[in-house]
Amino acid sequence: MNSPFFSDTYAEAREKFRSAVKASDHAATAHVHPDAKGPDGADLAMDVVWFGPADAKGVLLNLSGTHGTEGFAGSAAQLAWIEARGFDALPEGIAVLMVHGVNPYGFAHFSRTTEDNVDLNRNWIDFTKPAPDNPHYADYHDILTPKTINPEVEARILRELGTLAEQRGQWELEDAMSRGQYVRPDGLGFGGQKPTWSRESLTSIIKDNLARAAKVAFIDWHTGTPGIGEIIYLCYSEPGSESYANAARLWDEDNIRPTKVESQWGSKRPGREGVMFHGIQNLVADLGGVAAGGVIEIGTREHTDTRGAARASLYDRYLRFETQRFAPENEEFLKAVRECYYRPDDEEWKEAALTKSMDIYERTLQGLKDWVESTQ
Ligand SMILES: [Zn+2]
Repeated sequence: MNSPFFSDTYAEAREKFRSAVKASDHAATAHVHPDAKGPDGADLAMDVVWFGPADAKGVLLNLSGTHGTEGFAGSAAQLAWIEARGFDALPEGIAVLMVHGVNPYGFAHFSRTTEDNVDLNRNWIDFTKPAPDNPHYADYHDILTPKTINPEVEARILRELGTLAEQRGQWELEDAMSRGQYVRPDGLGFGGQKPTWSRESLTSIIKDNLARAAKVAFIDWHTGTPGIGEIIYLCYSEPGSESYANAARLWDEDNIRPTKVESQWGSKRPGREGVMFHGIQNLVADLGGVAAGGVIEIGTREHTDTRGAARASLYDRYLRFETQRFAPENEEFLKAVRECYYRPDDEEWKEAALTKSMDIYERTLQGLKDWVESTQ
């Protein structure tokens, strides 16, 4: 049987989310994008709902769709939690603030980036200061931004990247592509030149809702990592820091230990600028609270598929800048992007993703309760 929690489009996912919220006697607030639309011309919005006591000292802030098209799994997890009436089993004094479709443009257009081609998880820098440098990106930009894509072009790109990787190491390429760059709006890993609509909206959602929370657990659902149906906990806090210790309360230290995460990731993790978790941590601190957690990845690729994510990023950018995204001749490219982050025909994967995410909700909420009750 096909899982009823997963959708084929953003519009379907949004409709299911809103209906489930309504049926559960809660009210969702829509932050509608002022001008961007879906491919069908429909509105794009962040839908926000609060479950639990208004004065909760501990709040789980839970997001889906930060990386647009990665949102299918996160949306399904949110929907499954609502339909299972997870809110009836909340530990005492704990609430959930759920945000569906943080980057609705990317979600609707099957892209990882926003309407401005911004990687939302690189957009949280301080734009009043000079943007962080990514010195190697310029060496790769021309190779990674072909005007057309066909097997010959792909072979040439691989050859050129292979030569550079031999000279400089594979890690430099991965780092240059994904640490974030702030100079080429039409490139890969673009972090933006100002706060995006998504960042601005999420900032006001946090200010409006989390002023009374002392402790905020943060789960941002993502996909695209190696290991089909496997979970990777991406905690951005330094081991030994208080923030790391707090994440360990929520997720267990065994899960967040860097050696484990790097072995799951398949290589040393690249650098990261402008990460959303740090932005949210700062916002919560300004409100007088403490936030802990990070990204939780649900694997969608074979371990052996080492180039899958890079290829999907290349296609995603090509579809945005060089052609008509939804033109029939681009169907294969669009499918490759979509299926790097979502397995629409794999019921076993869906089952694993849901079982694990329900378990993570439960453990995080219990960990949050213990954290609230602790003296630290
Ligand atoms: Zn992601």
